[in-house]
Amino acid sequence: MIESKKPYVKPTMIKLQSGLMNKFGVSPYYARKVRTAIDGVSIDELVKRFGSPLFVFSEKQIRNTIREAKESFATRYPNVTFGWSYKTNYLDAINAIYHQEGSIAEVVSEMEYDKARRLGIPGEDIIFNGPHKSMTALKKAAEEGAKIHIDHFDEIDDLEKVAAELGKELSVAIRLNLDSGIQPQWSRFGFNLESGQAMDAVRRIQMGGKLRLNGLHCHIGTFILEPDAYKTQTEKMVRFAYELEETLGVTIEYLDIGGGFPSKNKLKGTYLPPDVSVPPLDTFAEKISEGLYNALKPGDFPKLYLETGRALIDEAGYLITTVFASKRLPDGRKSYVLDAGVNLLFTATWYKFTIETDREMQGLGEPALLNGPLCMNIDVVDDGILLPPMKRGTRLILSPVGAYNVTQWMQFIEYRPAVVLVTETGEVELIREREDLSDILRRERLPERLRLA
Ligand SMILES: *Cc1c(COP(=O)(O)O)cnc(C)c1O
Repeated sequence: MIESKKPYVKPTMIKLQSGLMNKFGVSPYYARKVRTAIDGVSIDELVKRFGSPLFVFSEKQIRNTIREAKESFATRYPNVTFGWSYKTNYLDAINAIYHQEGSIAEVVSEMEYDKARRLGIPGEDIIFNGPHKSMTALKKAAEEGAKIHIDHFDEIDDLEKVAAELGKELSVAIRLNLDSGIQPQWSRFGFNLESGQAMDAVRRIQMGGKLRLNGLHCHIGTFILEPDAYKTQTEKMVRFAYELEETLGVTIEYLDIGGGFPSKNKLKGTYLPPDVSVPPLDTFAEKISEGLYNALKPGDFPKLYLETGRALIDEAGYLITTVFASKRLPDGRKSYVLDAGVNLLFTATWYKFTIETDREMQGLGEPALLNGPLCMNIDVVDDGILLPPMKRGTRLILSPVGAYNVTQWMQFIEYRPAVVLVTETGEVELIREREDLSDILRRERLPERLRLA
């Protein structure tokens, strides 16, 4: 097959640059692979139909991951339900897949609450977290039977008013923060366990006589690489539940241990690939069940909720972007202008994405800057990736980008691109249209007197 033979490239000797090689290998090469398709659909076809940049989600990957996660827990503990963390990615189509797979909704704002309700999720299948819940939001959620997780003392006051207005006792849970060994400790949310603040909150709830505590919630952070932290957290929560039962006669029906499991993404500053540095979900499930069985009395199986976001969706998301131009900077560095930047990739702050190209490239690699379209110096997608010369029009496929990007993206300077879903049978469905000027103008009002001619 003469056609498929690669063109001859003259061998070259290059000086080793510091930072390229270390005892773990050659880190920048990590990113250089060719990808011509996502789940069998060619990159070329995707861009022809939906333009560039383009977010692409793999339904197969989403469903496989949540099924495996459920399996990891179901084989260890009899009573587990997942709550899909809306803020991680709340496109309707994505939410609907998780709900089809049996997840309830976990929301942290009234907007997310409304989105879940509009999708058809009943109040009782919504976990309502977060430090800012307005009176109208609390009232709605209380009327509809949502699981409200109290964040602070003021919210206890607010909920007592709601209970009085509705003329009924409300079941509530409180959010705890605690020392699980993770630094920095997320102490901004909920009531602190070790200082006795959480116990005070429960006493305060009991004194009020309008609320009934039935659950404990705790979310220790995000991208936690230390499975043992969850064991510590779970044990502390169970012990606190028993303490409440013994001292105050409170019956805790459920424990919600939050999210925070890492995805197979490469944090900046780490050399090892995620396959080595990120523990599998199974390990987290093991530690959590160890924590439960260490602390629970035999025969007790309180309901367990998980609010995993990132670890379930990150690897299912790709961003296709196109090389728009190349430049030589005054300091000699090569820079490429891409049509997607940090406006679409909030997680570029922490992650070094896997970067694949849609074609084989010839020539010598040199460290390059990948810049986005913004007129801002901070618009850097990668700094230092080793790339041979890339022609205009070369497509790059960035991953994993499924978590937090299509919720934290900015409508700044550029339109936001389309988002598509590749179905399990290889169809491509549009799940969010590319924006146009009407999206920008929809909420604007131009006073009559400022109208030009
Ligand atoms: C963001 C958030 C989650 C999801 O966290 P991940 O790190 O994406 O798993 C879960 N619970 C609460 C309360 C959150 O704020």
